[in-house]
Amino acid sequence: MALIVQKYGGTSVGSPDRILNVAKRIIASKEAGNQVVVVVSAMGGATDGLIDLAKKVNKRPNEREMDMLLSTGEQVSASLLAMAIEALGHKAISFNGFQVGILTDSSHTKAKILNINGDRIKKSLKKGNVVIVTGFQGRDEDDNITTLGRGGSDTSAVAIAAALLADECEIYTDVDGVYTADPRIVKNARKLSKIACDEMLELASLGAKVMQSRSIEFAKKFGVTIHVRSSFNNKIGTIITEEGDEMEAPVVRGVTSTISEAKVTIIGVPDKPGIAAEIFREISEANINIDMIIQNVGEQGTTDLSFTVEAADLDRLKDVMKPVEKNVSAKKITYDSDIGKVSIVGVGMKSHSGIAYKMFKVLAEKKINIKMISTSEIRVSVVVEQEKAAEAVNALHEAFELDKEIIYEAKL
Ligand code: ADP
Ligand code: ASP
Ligand code: MG
Repeated sequence: MALIVQKYGGTSVGSPDRILNVAKRIIASKEAGNQVVVVVSAMGGATDGLIDLAKKVNKRPNEREMDMLLSTGEQVSASLLAMAIEALGHKAISFNGFQVGILTDSSHTKAKILNINGDRIKKSLKKGNVVIVTGFQGRDEDDNITTLGRGGSDTSAVAIAAALLADECEIYTDVDGVYTADPRIVKNARKLSKIACDEMLELASLGAKVMQSRSIEFAKKFGVTIHVRSSFNNKIGTIITEEGDEMEAPVVRGVTSTISEAKVTIIGVPDKPGIAAEIFREISEANINIDMIIQNVGEQGTTDLSFTVEAADLDRLKDVMKPVEKNVSAKKITYDSDIGKVSIVGVGMKSHSGIAYKMFKVLAEKKINIKMISTSEIRVSVVVEQEKAAEAVNALHEAFELDKEIIYEAKL
């Protein structure tokens, strides 16, 4: 008997009909002889709705209270799904993250899973139940409810699959798998049959929201193979797995973008040791993540420093920067939310040169100005004007011929 973890995203459980449809899929898997643990997201749009509600009573709501609120979305879909399965004549029981011992740290709204006690899930499975667990949440050591950041149900599912040593981890969503680019942005994006964990990790953290990046970190750490597929058909989706023979991998596997970041520039800071440490210490103490950092060449004893942060953190960052601006005697700080970050990703880049050059050339031909650049071994990212981001993604998808099937991909 195989143990299967299935995760259903918001669109897949977005209406009573869809919940019944999901219930039928789960039952089919159970009747095929499997034990099934299901992780659910909130019904499509529910989390956004709760965030809007919070903002109506408080423009900057306390994060602990946000977690109390947001965690309720998944409780609705989990219980409805259990009821739907029972209506179809099978046993099911739903739990929230707290009840099944998903222990996290205390970073409200972006908590990290520390441990999962799978005992209660295992006991309920033994009694013949389909076990349904709310995604996206847990509790900290003081019993506060925490949530795992947007898209966090993916991470709940992979972490539960790892904790239970599940045989399979299926992520059911509203697209047929992982594509070479977001199919909503690139019409001829191609579904990948396989993708390496490292590539998926980069794509996910650079904007491909089909998987939350933390979930891929778990998959890598605990050796969980993930199957991303559609909840609306029975097609085989995309397998996310450890990298195979990288020499065979295409140079660029995918292209992605995000418009959720903002650029901060500190103008005229003294060009001397300790200044960057001073600035980033304060930001790090406020638990704000920094992405790209660029420091210009110093001139006449001062320099400019630019970095990007999540736009959602911008208000908090501005508070942090007020005293910092004085302490480091900066001339001025500017904030630009009108940016898009566009990235190309592929493990094959490790063994090829000229990829960044080709990317810059393609963007130059489209007259798209590059504001910032950053690279890793397997990716190149650029910041461009926000309204040019989709055009840039399409141009790069075409230039790197990502719509064309690469035969040796099967060797991954
Ligand atoms: P769920 O609610 O099932 O978790 P999400 O909306 O979080 O679904 O993720 C699925 C969406 O991710 C797709 O509808 C698609 O628009 C988007 N997406 C972005 N990049 C990609 C990609 N490279 N491949 C597939 N989907 C992508
Ligand atoms: N409901 C949460 C969100 O909308 C978590 C998830 O869907 O994975 O971000
Ligand atoms: Mg998602």
